[in-house]
Amino acid sequence: MSTTVTLIPGDGIGPDITEATIRVLDAVGADLVWDRQMAGASAAARYNDPIPEATLDSIKKNRVALKGPLETPVGEGYRSVNVALRKTFDLYANVRPAHVILHGGRFEKVDIVIIRENLEGLYYGAEHYIRIGDDPKAAAESVALITRYGSDRAIRYAFEYAVKHGRKKVTLVHKANILKYTQGLFLDVGREIAKEYAGRVQFEDRIIDAMAMQLVLKPENFDVIVTTNLFGDILSDLVSGLVGGLGLAPGANIGPTAAIFEAVHGTAPDIAGKGVANPGALILAACLMLDHLGDTVRAERIRTALHAVIDERTMLTRDLGGTASTSQFADAIIARL
Ligand code: ATP
Repeated sequence: MSTTVTLIPGDGIGPDITEATIRVLDAVGADLVWDRQMAGASAAARYNDPIPEATLDSIKKNRVALKGPLETPVGEGYRSVNVALRKTFDLYANVRPAHVILHGGRFEKVDIVIIRENLEGLYYGAEHYIRIGDDPKAAAESVALITRYGSDRAIRYAFEYAVKHGRKKVTLVHKANILKYTQGLFLDVGREIAKEYAGRVQFEDRIIDAMAMQLVLKPENFDVIVTTNLFGDILSDLVSGLVGGLGLAPGANIGPTAAIFEAVHGTAPDIAGKGVANPGALILAACLMLDHLGDTVRAERIRTALHAVIDERTMLTRDLGGTASTSQFADAIIARL
């Protein structure tokens, strides 16, 4: 029986890479029906609403969405569309796998999955200015909210992910030496959960600054990483840089009733509409989606074809050092399937 998936092409390079991704999914014979919806700047321009009700209803109904990058329109009242989607659907875990696909770079053996708590911390959204005298913006304050509940489910997801995918170790990254309450709570919860998985999954913790250095020096020492929202955002871009850049970095946002799959990169306005964007990240995000839907066979076929095209090096997009267009890259994958 075919599965209906909400499809949000998005802004900037979104429509180009979405088109390429759909062609690859069609070619592999994925049994999907697309429910096309709008969000981001294109939706704001058309409906004066960056997250139209119809889009939310569609995700609610289908429970799975594939999403291109979204631009948050500038203006009063518009918060980040991505953050709003995470909150609406309670997408508490952001999963970003990164392993070496383009060989011959600085590292050969990086194979890391970052699991980021997706709703709390400094991105919770509790911030305001403080007036002093005549200056209404004399100071600004952001609250980093960490809850036991939120930490528990994100960290537990990381351990369960490790078990399910045969991974050996979870590294919890924090700054509990300075932020003793918020980061301390996250670490405490991690230590408690680790006891439940003793003998099955190893556990260690690292302070964020030391972790940044160790990731750049010896990334092959790490396996599954779990961390709070802001650190996860930064570390996942760092790790995607270790393995060949944003053009090949997929992500999944997981919640109890819905999951949204996306590329880690943004709308890339500098190359939008030029047909040169790398669709690899969204294609790999679609593979995570097929895994989630239980179609691991087709997901693996696409990954194998994509890896082969990259190994051949004749059809690489510009970000990978080649001259191929978005559609030529997709065609090369399709030819390999
Ligand atoms: P946004 O504000 O939407 O996050 P941005 O330009 O700040 O946009 P990204 O869109 O992530 O951030 O882009 C960062 C850089 O990486 C840009 O130079 C962009 O061209 C490049 N880039 C991002 N994604 C791709 C891609 N899929 N293919 C090629 N280059 C990309």
